[in-house]
Amino acid sequence: MTVAVVGAGLSGCAAVIALARRGIRATWLAGQGTRVEPFGETLAPAAGAILDSLGIRDVLDDHRHRASVSTFSSWGSDTLQERNAALALTGTGFVLDRPAFEAAVFARAQELCEPIGTRVVGIAGAGEAWSLGLADGSSHLARFVVDATGRHASIGRRLGRRSTGPRLLAVTTTTHEAPSDVEPTRATMIEAMPDGWIYAAVRSDRRLCLAYFTSPASMPRGITRQAADWGDILASSAHVSRWIADVGFDLGQPAVVRDASAAWLGTPAGTAQDGRCGWAAIGDAAAAFDPLSSHGMTSALWMGERMGAVAHGFIEGDPALLSDYAGAVARGVDAFIRARRMVYAREIRFADRPFWASAAVG
Ligand SMILES: Cc1cc2nc3c(=O)[nH]c(=O)nc-3n(C[C@H](O)[C@H](O)[C@H](O)COP(=O)(O)OP(=O)(O)OC[C@H]3O[C@@H](n4cnc5c(N)ncnc54)[C@H](O)[C@@H]3O)c2cc1C
Repeated sequence: MTVAVVGAGLSGCAAVIALARRGIRATWLAGQGTRVEPFGETLAPAAGAILDSLGIRDVLDDHRHRASVSTFSSWGSDTLQERNAALALTGTGFVLDRPAFEAAVFARAQELCEPIGTRVVGIAGAGEAWSLGLADGSSHLARFVVDATGRHASIGRRLGRRSTGPRLLAVTTTTHEAPSDVEPTRATMIEAMPDGWIYAAVRSDRRLCLAYFTSPASMPRGITRQAADWGDILASSAHVSRWIADVGFDLGQPAVVRDASAAWLGTPAGTAQDGRCGWAAIGDAAAAFDPLSSHGMTSALWMGERMGAVAHGFIEGDPALLSDYAGAVARGVDAFIRARRMVYAREIRFADRPFWASAAVG
């Protein structure tokens, strides 16, 4: 009954692996697994070192992921600026086949710990331990609980106040492979638009992934059904629409609207029962960053990796690493909030539009 990890996204998998490397076999309450939309997110260069320390760097040796070398952005100016990772000391990130990446990381965690496919529905102090209420009505005892439940923050929101930034919704789609006679540039583009911004990336399989981000008020109702609305949104971009037309990609149709707002816990970790029990939230449960940062997955992996030392220290009677962790996450959230405001305020062309007016101050 020592450590329980709740959730099976990247953060939960990283925690399970890090704990196993410290000789701690956690109880892994994995929920229903993670259903990931087929999409092409960007994994930041910093993730490589974290995957290394988890001993799973080789999950990126897969032709379905491509090195992310060129990123073009139009933000605060009509001109496209290129950032070329070949010249950056931080190394290159990756445009992922996200389901393939998640499945590979999950498989490595599963080699070390058998997941239990159940949801946690409650948590209460029970003397020396936490009692986790499970969906089937049973309960599980643990001295240290890791909340890796993503934006649900199923445990953390009961133990620490959750705050949110300005509401942001996302629609994503992956178009078909590029027409065979045209070789699309393997690049990523980020473009500010009058009512939001768009991310476009060509994956290694020559399919273009699109994600459009805007406020709930500016997201057309029924966007997942109305091809005309989706077409209008894409037409209001200057650069991405030209890229689509030049290569001849079809427009695709977003299948689902997702919450992409920044959200974080005021207290991301702590102790209870006079210090006999501990808990920590990791990944999106602790701090879900605006996807503009392209750091959600990397932060999730980092926080999960930290759990090896943090939970080990706590169980051995040293809670110092737990408070160090809470402080580091809180500082990261402060830095993120400041940086986010600065970046949104830099887009002055659309400053009078409601989306940009609220994004820059939120
Ligand atoms: C549109 C969009 C685009 C993005 N693009 C990028 C990008 O380009 N780069 C990047 O780095 N990040 C990106 N992100 C962020 C990134 O996807 C997340 O930060 C990352 O997935 C967080 O992983 P996680 O493990 O914390 O949570 P999740 O992946 O959400 O996993 C949570 C897990 O917990 C389980 N669970 C939930 N509740 C319970 C419960 N009560 N009991 C048991 N299990 C439970 C779920 O089933 C799931 O397995 C993007 C996000 C969005 C919305």
